[in-house]
Formats: sequence, C-alpha cells, structure tokens
Amino acid sequence: MELYKNQALKIYNTLTGEKDTFTPIHLGNIGMYVCGPTVYSNVHLGNIRTFMSFDVIYRYLLHLDYKVRYVRNITDAGHLTDDGDVANDRFVKQSRLEKLEPMEIVQKYTVDFHKVLDAFNFLPPTIEPTATGHILEQIELTQKLIELGFAYESNGSVYFDVFAYNAKGLNYGALSNRNIDELFANTRDLDGQTEKKNPQDFALWKNASPAHIMRWNSPWGEGFPGWHLECTAMSTKYLGETFDIHGGGMDLKFPHHECEVAQGTACNGHSPVNFWMHTNMLTMNGLRMSKSTGNYILPMELLSGENSFFEKSFEPNIVRFCFLQAHYRSVLDISNDAMVASEKGYNRLMEAYKLLGNLKTSTTSTIAIASWKQSCYDAMNDDFNTPILIAQLFEGARFINVVNDGSATITAEDLQDLSTTLSHFIFDVLGMTNPDISGNSNSTEKLKGVVEMLIEMRNQARANKNFALSDEIRDKLLALGIQLKDGKEGTTFTT
Ligand code: AMP
Ligand code: ZN
Repeated sequence: MELYKNQALKIYNTLTGEKDTFTPIHLGNIGMYVCGPTVYSNVHLGNIRTFMSFDVIYRYLLHLDYKVRYVRNITDAGHLTDDGDVANDRFVKQSRLEKLEPMEIVQKYTVDFHKVLDAFNFLPPTIEPTATGHILEQIELTQKLIELGFAYESNGSVYFDVFAYNAKGLNYGALSNRNIDELFANTRDLDGQTEKKNPQDFALWKNASPAHIMRWNSPWGEGFPGWHLECTAMSTKYLGETFDIHGGGMDLKFPHHECEVAQGTACNGHSPVNFWMHTNMLTMNGLRMSKSTGNYILPMELLSGENSFFEKSFEPNIVRFCFLQAHYRSVLDISNDAMVASEKGYNRLMEAYKLLGNLKTSTTSTIAIASWKQSCYDAMNDDFNTPILIAQLFEGARFINVVNDGSATITAEDLQDLSTTLSHFIFDVLGMTNPDISGNSNSTEKLKGVVEMLIEMRNQARANKNFALSDEIRDKLLALGIQLKDGKEGTTFTT
C-alpha cells in the first residue's frame, strides 16, 4: 500500500460494517461521489451537516495529497413524493405553489444552495452534474438493463426487476442488510401495483402525460427518469464502473443506494463502489431535522439570528465547529447550549492560535510536538474522527499557552511545526476561515505590506552583518507560516 503523507487511512464501510483500510483503485487518485440536494426548496441545516461531513473528508484527502475527483450531483428531476403519484412530483408541485416554471424552481434553489455553501466555506466539488443534463445517459442505461434481462417495460414505464436480479445469484438488500423476503412482506406499492411485477421493483423510467411539464422523449414514450438511476448514470460517466467512495446521509442507504448497487452490478457485472459512507442525522428537539415535518432551521436563519429556536445569531465558523465536534456517524442534536459551548471553545482555540506570533523560542523543547502532530493525523485516519482531532487541537492550544506563560519551552523548529500543523488542520482540513488571510483583500494587502517591511529590515540587518536579527525575522515569520525565499531577484515570500 502506497502511503500518502505516510498516513494509513481507515474508513468505515457500510458494505462490510467495519473500518477497512483505504486503498484507492488508482494509485494517488480518488473518485468520490456524494448524492447532492433535491433543489425544489431551500436546503436545511440537516442537509448542510451531511454535505459538511463530506467537505471535511474531501479536504482531508486533498491534504494527504491525493488527486480527488469529487462529484456531487444536483437532483433537478425525477424525485417523486412518497406516494409515488406523478402529479406530486416535487418540482411540479413547488412550481404550482410559487407560480414559477419547474426550471425556475431548480435555478432558484440551486443558487440558494450555492450561497449557503459559500457562506460556510465549502470547497466546490470538481464536477457538479445535473440529472436533467444526463437524460440520454439514463435512457441508455435503461435500455441496457432491459437488454440484459434486468428490467421490463409496462405501460410506458420501465421497472428494475428485483427478482430477476436475485435469480442470477445477486443479492438485492446486501448494502442495507435487508432480506428480500422481508422486503416482499413490508413493501408498500409506491408506483401502482398493476404496472409492476413485484412491489419492490423500482422505476427506471416513468411514463408522463402531456400535463406533466418535466418530461422527455424516450423509446417508451414521453416520461422522466427514476431518481435512483441518475446517480448511477452520472457516477459511471465521471468516475467509471467501479470507483472508490460513494456517500450520502444514512436515510439514503435504502432504497436509493441499494438500487444504485443493483443497477451498477446488473449493468457491469460487478459492484459499482468500494467504500459506501453514510452520515448520521442532525436532530432538533430530539427529532430528525426535516422539511416535511416542519422540524427544521434554515442555515441563513441561524446565521442571521432570525429564528425562534436560538437565542442569538452564530457565525459560520461556529456552526462548522459545532457540527464537527460530533463524529459524522453519530447523531447530533443541535441546541442553543451546544452552539454557545462551541462558540466559547472555538474562541478559546483562536485566542491561543493568535499568540503563536508572540512565542519566544529556545534551544530545547519541553513539549513533544512530533507525537502530538501524529495524534492529529491518527484521529483523522481513524474514519475521519473530527471530535478527537478537535481535542488534539485544544492540546495544541495548551502548548501555546504554557510556552507563552513561560512554564514550557519550544525550539524554533517545533514552533514552526506546531504552527503549520494547527493551520493545516483548523483551516485546510476542518475548513474554518482563517482570520489572517480570509477574503478581505484589504487585510491581504496589509499583510503583504508588513511582510515587505520586515524583508527590508532583514536586508538592513544583513547589510550590517547582524545575522542574529536577520535569522530571527526569518524564523519568526516561518513560525507564522510565512516562508521567505532568497533569490537572484531579491527576497520573496509565500504564506
Ligand atoms: P435531499 O435533498 O433530501 O436528497 O437531502 C440531501 C442530503 O441531506 C442527503 O444526503 C440526506 O441524507 C441528507 N439529510 C437529510 N436530512 C438530514 C438530517 N436531518 N441530518 C443530516 N443529513 C440529512
Ligand atoms: Zn444519489
């Protein structure tokens, strides 16, 4: 196994029910697919928790120097309501309610989704495909599944034949640990019993009448694709028949992801995904946050304070910090107290971080920076354990405080290591915005001016042969993550 940054990563795989050692299919490259939002209304904080978990996972993989192709789709068609009635297509229903075209609904809530992600400092995925942009691929997949004997047409709709799949020795239900016979006993008929051979067969293509606005031509007449098919079509197109990681909230495990496994396996003869990752739910008042029950808060309502649940507004870094203090596989119950505690904790961490520049170095260290640094990696290598990582970051803050009050000493080299490790994990991996460099071009300009002034002072010190001072300026800047480079054209710096 090739180790990146010398770290051995373990990921909990829903498929095996264990933390498995992660090895990518192609050395140094990772393909990751995460089910995106259904853009018929605003995303709520629960959705954001799931996307944030994958943002941090993506960030850590990048930090380890993997080249990651991260695909997160936009579901803008084919996601029916639970009653399966075509007339209740969420986009069509919402467009009636808001008196907008369905594609105006899609546009409105896609823009809202991106605004929220920007507010919370998410990295964009490398590809963000839409279901409506991949209708042809979905028709082709449906045709292939019919040809291979895994699907059948009925009244202009096409269904995946779960029993034909199992008859070939394949195991529908393996991902979500369900037994096909139990499924048979428990499945409600969502798509109209008469059209399907068996209740658990699921739609690949749904027939739509002219009254249905979102519909496309197909070999089976006008209609629209089934929700499960879009993710198989887009993941296969951009990541291949088998890829490394597929993620989503645990409510998607069944039937959505189970259906994806069946579609991919039926088409290609092998399972589509090596690691299935599922995030746990955000709850409020002990109940799952959800649009349909009304138990939700919108992200912007939390940031602005315009809601009746929290006593005040909270800034995005605090929300991030609060979410990441729970492991992604644990339930997190959001509350005013939890947010206030996170705010206190984050401010304490930042207060210590800001002292880094004042610390005096010594010829010896009385604190063990190398083993602490490895503990930070160990936490993330253990199935992205952000709460343990955050505990380690507080240990880093403690180091700063004890050096600052003189009860411990640190060498320049260790100080640099402490500083860069904290900066890597707080800003690059956990995704907090760095107050020193974030967005504000004014502060970036100021920083540039100050560093250039220090470079000038260092040049004067060197001209006066005061090498102790010139080295001190270089080392102290380095401890802050600013590296000077002496070249033919003079001294430049990188942050
Ligand atoms: P949807 O737009 O409903 O498909 O949801 C987008 C993502 O948010 C999916 O991965 C869901 O599993 C996830 N999700 C929905 N509700 C919650 C919640 N309360 N907590 C965490 N994730 C959620
Ligand atoms: Zn999906």
